[in-house]
Amino acid sequence: MIRQASTPLVTTVKERCRVCYTCVRECPAKAIRIAGWQAEIMPERCVGCGNCVRVCSQKAKQVTSSLAEVRALLATGQRVAACVAPSFPAEFIDLDTRTLVGMLRRLGFAFVNEVAFGADLTARRTREMLEENPDRCYISTSCPAIVSYIERYYPALVEYLAPIASPMVATARALRRLHGEDLKVVFIGPCVAKKGEDLTPDGVPEIDEVLTFAELRQVLADTGVTAKGTVASDFDPPRGGTGALYPLSRGALQAANIDEDLIHGEIVAADGRTSFVEVIKEFESGDLDLNARLLELLCCNGCIMGAGMTSDAPLFRRRAIVSKHVRQTLAASDPGQHEDWLGQMSDLDLSRTFRIDDQRMTVPTEDEVAAVLARMGKHHPADELNCGACGYDTCREHAVAVCKGLAESEMCLPFTIEALRKTVGELAVSHDELRTTQQALMHSERLASMGQLAAGIAHEVNNPLGVVLLYAHMLLEETQKEQPLRKDLEMIVAQADRCKKIVAGLLNFARQNKVFLQETPVRDLMLQGLRSVPIPDSVKVQVEHEQERLVVELDRDQIIQVLTNLISNAVEAMPAGGTLTLSSRTSNGHVILAVSDTGVGISRDNMNRIFEPFFTTKPMGKGTGLGLPVIYGIIKMHRGDIKVESNADPAAGPTGTCFTVTLPRQGRGE
Ligand code: ADP
Ligand code: MG
Repeated sequence: MIRQASTPLVTTVKERCRVCYTCVRECPAKAIRIAGWQAEIMPERCVGCGNCVRVCSQKAKQVTSSLAEVRALLATGQRVAACVAPSFPAEFIDLDTRTLVGMLRRLGFAFVNEVAFGADLTARRTREMLEENPDRCYISTSCPAIVSYIERYYPALVEYLAPIASPMVATARALRRLHGEDLKVVFIGPCVAKKGEDLTPDGVPEIDEVLTFAELRQVLADTGVTAKGTVASDFDPPRGGTGALYPLSRGALQAANIDEDLIHGEIVAADGRTSFVEVIKEFESGDLDLNARLLELLCCNGCIMGAGMTSDAPLFRRRAIVSKHVRQTLAASDPGQHEDWLGQMSDLDLSRTFRIDDQRMTVPTEDEVAAVLARMGKHHPADELNCGACGYDTCREHAVAVCKGLAESEMCLPFTIEALRKTVGELAVSHDELRTTQQALMHSERLASMGQLAAGIAHEVNNPLGVVLLYAHMLLEETQKEQPLRKDLEMIVAQADRCKKIVAGLLNFARQNKVFLQETPVRDLMLQGLRSVPIPDSVKVQVEHEQERLVVELDRDQIIQVLTNLISNAVEAMPAGGTLTLSSRTSNGHVILAVSDTGVGISRDNMNRIFEPFFTTKPMGKGTGLGLPVIYGIIKMHRGDIKVESNADPAAGPTGTCFTVTLPRQGRGE
């Protein structure tokens, strides 16, 4: 079993990853890259600590499986030893030790041994090493993730790693001495990083496969091996002693009978991802007390909290279970025999070597970092909130990670929220614009279909009406003044004339008439419009021209009609007097004429209907409801536009109405 640098120990299950950055935050090696909205583990940077596996609530981190390899190995019929890590009581809480051993034998293991024995050898060797080298300082090496971390990120500290084989390897070497070099060894434990421990000093694997406890449970389930029907049995010799304390934090110190004397400060013990990183950093920078002789570091809070465990028991319960197990085995063991075994193995080679695998990244320049920070909206130190939501402790660390291609600037939560807020605002505005446009469109569609109807009727009525008028006039001429019929005929003529006007209005609305374009000074238009409407004294008139001499191309008579209608509506809306304002200005090749009043205003309900033919709020005989439709038709014939703003509610402010007519300066009407 040789792990290639490119073979990951842990991978992300893409479908499950919700990109919450928790794994980024918890990874001490910063080996997780967010790319394309996926948390991706970089195998060359990963130290296998398994923190990401433990913290992922979505179970999106998967430990690379060795199940198939172990099954294949057992199927070969070769002698395979199962080396069980001393944390097993914390995993198999519900199983008594002898039953577990029996179950392993049922799986086909020829030997079932305790790694605690290897730990005893390692502990003894560590103590000797410290005694033989009183001036040297060591970092203990039973935790493969710590070793891996130092080899990758603190190459200068590799020389401090104690050159002593791990308990797992020590056990394997002892067993091979006992049972022959062809013995196959499977380590079973709580650790993911063990799968990546470099175990091939001379090309021959010392450990053939590594199973986590979780995987062992899988093998047992797959093969149907349960406690039922299992013949309980003891571990094979050599049995473990206090080495069984190794999986507890500071347990290795006790096993080696090394006193963590706080007064002398020679021993520094740290466990858990924040502590171990801090200690290594301090050690490298020289901040750590010069007295320190042994750094006892564990990546997890003791191996009993390893990511390969399935147990959900809390830390101190697990500690208590392992302690109790050690107490019981020590009480039942024969110390003389244990010493014997240790003596037999006293000349066993426990050496190991290390390999620097520098994965440090070049530090980006201050300018590069500043550019990334600016991209995340952080232009001043005060903008750096250091909220940690991105998975990095500070905005600066996040920016550095972005420079190195490990992170994306979108991971910044405050920045993303701000961007989102902006987008929502913009969407709301464009939504409003869309709604207004849609309403205008519906309105003009309705008016267009009314126009068609009106035009149809007007055409049909126009001819018979002409005949009625012709004959009525003929009759009128032939009738003497004093004849009683005369009055009736006059009435017919008057009413038919009125009909004629209405029909003409409808044709205008339906844009069935032609426009006759000519250059016209706007000032004259306004004056003509004003002159054709009688304006009572109570109404004050204001005229405002942006350009006094503005000349535009339009159908003079028709536009005067537009102004006349608008002015008379305005005057009628101010029975108690007020101000009438006429204005003109230009914008983008258009002329904008506005007629506004301080009258009663148009209610919201009526607003949508004022351009409909025959809609009027005025009493019978006063309004025809054709003024605005005619205006509408004329303006559309000019390819222009008319808009109205009005307030009829005194509670909402001064009442009044403003009609704005926009016409092209170079008439394009047909
Ligand atoms: P009419 O003037 O014959 O009623 P219009 O088409 O000119 O027909 O106007 C339709 C309706 O629009 C009016 O009856 C009135 O309710 C409303 N209106 C038009 N202009 C104004 C205005 N300046 N102020 C208040 N209401 C107006
Ligand atoms: Mg009118």
